Amino acid sequence: MDNNCIFCKIIAGDIPSYTVYEDDKVKVFLDISQTTPGHTLVIPKVHVPDIYAYDEELAEQVFARIPKIARAIKNSNPAIKGMNIVNNNGELAYQSVFHSHFHLIPRYSEDDTFSINYTDNGESTSSSQLEELQTSIQNAMEDK
Ligand code: AMP
Ligand code: ZN
Repeated sequence: MDNNCIFCKIIAGDIPSYTVYEDDKVKVFLDISQTTPGHTLVIPKVHVPDIYAYDEELAEQVFARIPKIARAIKNSNPAIKGMNIVNNNGELAYQSVFHSHFHLIPRYSEDDTFSINYTDNGESTSSSQLEELQTSIQNAMEDK
């Protein structure tokens, strides 16, 4: 537990939350911002700041639980037509709470107040640039 971490305090029960699921590995509760109705956070019970801090065991524990939580949200409301699962890492990438978490954001319509903008830079990226990127990521892999 990190004493300065708001999500650790939620896990400890020191700060209230609208918990929808909990077991020994994860806590799942409504995001206070409710970007769309049912916007939910899945967090590991151990304090890890971001995705880079996961080992395989923790990743298995957290990721294994996400599909059933997603299904529960989807099945809770027939108006839910889609779902975005978002994990922000670093302030630049919109992370504001530094206890890793996954947003499950139910989608209702094209104008339901959530959007992601994927710019398509495919046409201006050459195959040699793609190969360079491929090689640098491959070479940086821990267990290559
Ligand atoms: P991120 O910006 O990806 O770090 O997401 C942090 C999320 O935590 C935001 O969507 C906040 O609305 C949410 N949040 C912060 N404090 C609380 C809280 N006490 N209970 C529920 N959600 C919270
Ligand atoms: Zn924490």
